[in-house]
Amino acid sequence: MKKFFIFLSILTIVIGTVGYFSLSSPAVQKFVIKSIFESRLQGAFGGSEVVNSDKLEIFFCGSGSPLSFIPEGAQCMALIIGSNIYVIDSGENSFGKISSNYLPQNIKAVFITHAHSDHIGDLDELNLRRWVSGAQAPLRVYGSSEIVNVTSGINLAYKNDEDYRVAHHGEEFVPPENRPMIPVVHKPTDRPQLIFEDQNIRVESFLVDHFPVREAIGFRIFFGNKKIIISGDTEITDNVFSLVDGADILIHDGMIKDHVSFLEKVAKDNNISRAEIAFHDILDYHADVKAIKKNLENKDLGLLIVNHLVPAKNPIGIRYMEDLFSDVPYKFLLARDNDKIVVSKNSDEIIIN
Ligand SMILES: [Zn+2]
Ligand SMILES: [Zn+2]
Repeated sequence: MKKFFIFLSILTIVIGTVGYFSLSSPAVQKFVIKSIFESRLQGAFGGSEVVNSDKLEIFFCGSGSPLSFIPEGAQCMALIIGSNIYVIDSGENSFGKISSNYLPQNIKAVFITHAHSDHIGDLDELNLRRWVSGAQAPLRVYGSSEIVNVTSGINLAYKNDEDYRVAHHGEEFVPPENRPMIPVVHKPTDRPQLIFEDQNIRVESFLVDHFPVREAIGFRIFFGNKKIIISGDTEITDNVFSLVDGADILIHDGMIKDHVSFLEKVAKDNNISRAEIAFHDILDYHADVKAIKKNLENKDLGLLIVNHLVPAKNPIGIRYMEDLFSDVPYKFLLARDNDKIVVSKNSDEIIIN
């Protein structure tokens, strides 16, 4: 046995050494570059998509906290139906997760809950990359009055880039009319109102409580007979929980207020007044996770996903969440980047990957 391991070690060293020196060969270098390029081309432009419009996949392109030091994507969810992509919020560090899994030119629409930076920080690159990847129409961005400054500002900021690319590649390759986003603005209400419908999904919006953001919204999404509620950023509000009974999935923001209050006290004890003020001020910004659980008592729900956890995920917070939701009758998930949840029109099963 010992001789076998010695032989295996020598073999590994020999293969590694040969491999290392063979990379100096121009022929080997070209072969490696060609292989990597071809696999990436297939990812970017290839036709290997699985088209199945009976399934909806929710992909978490961003599950992180606002202003977090952890390298998670900020808020972002992509709904994938066949080759169609619908994006809910586009926080910083989220677009790369979409583009490394799906084709950006297939993004059909973006829905924005509100204009806090952790919900819009990557919208500029999402729009640009979708355009240069060959999108056939301008990107329509749906939201309340919150999106007006966002879309017009990004459209203006990226105008020079558009001019350079059109001058370089020509209008046929990058049609300039497809570059600026088109905001589709509605006046949100307490009760759900229809803001988008196509052959795949229906999207309704409703007001949530994220004061001083006056027109922060959540969404109710219909996919066949499946219902998905997305709270956006909100304190506990009846506008969300009155819709939950009978829903398949509720995706809610969450705050562990026990921990935020404790951090406020720690900041005070250490005379870090800026942190003390910040922790105090955010306490009425998000829903306490214990209150979420309380409001779901006696509701018929398939899966609760807590997203946008504050404070940012840490081992103690994760343990707190696991303990808190260990005895609930519905499925529970604390969202992490790259999570995929699949629902099907023909089944009540919810698959979590
Ligand atoms: Zn917010
Ligand atoms: Zn947020």
